[in-house]
Amino acid sequence: MDRQQDFVLRTVEERDIRFIRLWFTDVAGILKSVAIAPAELESAFTEGIGFDGSAIEGLTRVVESDMLAKPDPSTFQVLPWRGERHGTARMFCDIQTPDGEPSAADPRWVLKRTLARASDQGLMFYVHPEIEFYLFENPAEPDLPLVPVDSGGYFDHVPRGTGHDFRRAAISMLESMGISVEFSHHEAGPGQNEIDLRYADALTTADNVMTFRTVVKEVALEQGLYASFMPKPMASQPGSGMHSHLSLFEGDRNAFHEPGAAMELSATGRKFIAGLLHHAAEITAITNQYVNSYKRLWGGSEAPSYICWGHNNRSALVRVPLYKPGKGNSSRVEYRAVDSAANPYLAFAVLLAAGMKGIEEGYELPDGAEDDVWELTDAERRSLGIEPLPGSLEQAVQVMERSELVAETLGEHVFDYVLRNKREEWEAYRAQVTPFELKRYLPVL
Ligand code: GLU
Ligand code: MG
Ligand code: MG
Repeated sequence: MDRQQDFVLRTVEERDIRFIRLWFTDVAGILKSVAIAPAELESAFTEGIGFDGSAIEGLTRVVESDMLAKPDPSTFQVLPWRGERHGTARMFCDIQTPDGEPSAADPRWVLKRTLARASDQGLMFYVHPEIEFYLFENPAEPDLPLVPVDSGGYFDHVPRGTGHDFRRAAISMLESMGISVEFSHHEAGPGQNEIDLRYADALTTADNVMTFRTVVKEVALEQGLYASFMPKPMASQPGSGMHSHLSLFEGDRNAFHEPGAAMELSATGRKFIAGLLHHAAEITAITNQYVNSYKRLWGGSEAPSYICWGHNNRSALVRVPLYKPGKGNSSRVEYRAVDSAANPYLAFAVLLAAGMKGIEEGYELPDGAEDDVWELTDAERRSLGIEPLPGSLEQAVQVMERSELVAETLGEHVFDYVLRNKREEWEAYRAQVTPFELKRYLPVL
């Protein structure tokens, strides 16, 4: 037993924890959980807990279905919504094959492997996400019209607002689990909220995003509401993005910061952005993984549609936020395509890989966009060399299947699984006859 494992064992005893949930994430980004009794903890740490991986999306082929979940003691937290007495705690797990090797299908491993490549070059990757979501009055019944909890807008203070109470409850629960919140506000859509997590290393942030989604859903249920991270639940309202602020550190020094340079952005930062732009189309099936994700990207309301960068330009895919003098360590770039339903482990892995490629290959950063790129004509955008993001899941998959960068980052197993799974999703979607078609064509055709 190491010190962290000892700490977990002691805390479980002292706080009368009766169940320990072992959490891991499947390839689609859905949280999985198996509860064990405290008596099993020691062997979970040493040998792992066996489970049938073939039941879990993307995890394994049936022939090699035995898998082990190995809890990471540094992620131990008591779950506040399960009450104080006979409590429940959770740990995130790494997934291993029966012979103790990391499972190629574990998204947490995909991210760890990508982080290790950057750390071989002395670089640590940090992410802070701005997570948007909707709160609805009604349960998730696809046949019912959606009823947002209020009609507020951006930064609105809704008196006695449900969103206000909700955010307070969700934030105190997150804080009690060691997840710091920087900022929270009402977003532009009715019932839409945003909570921004404080920056942390990318692995911790990915774990935190998974916890965040669970906490938000739990608090909503407690208050008789339904919280949704669907990228575009209502056609006429803004979608929910997970803008991700990215930075690289070399020891204590922010590698994106250079005093005196334009926007105080270092050459490393410029190449990193160039990498993000160069590979943006290839990674979109990962950052925006659902049919519905493209309704957000192409539905206006400040979601990015075009591959360009800009200084504080909200129409750009990559934004360099305003620099605050004296705050060199806060230098970062904001990647705005990611949506709130992305698998955070895979999304952060492909973003890091794209940026690192820019650094390794010394990509040249094109000129930043000064204008609102949504307002330009196609011809104007073309003359500026600004390409669109993929227009649909189908297009995104077609670009991704030719991407060496994504294949290498995800590894063969996850890469093949995602392609197969997403082609199936697209085919199922294409086979639908939608209300749009009936409304538009039936009366006239
Ligand atoms: N909801 C917008 C999106 O889908 C972002 C709004 C904002 O700038 O925060 O990306
Ligand atoms: Mg926002
Ligand atoms: Mg933002």
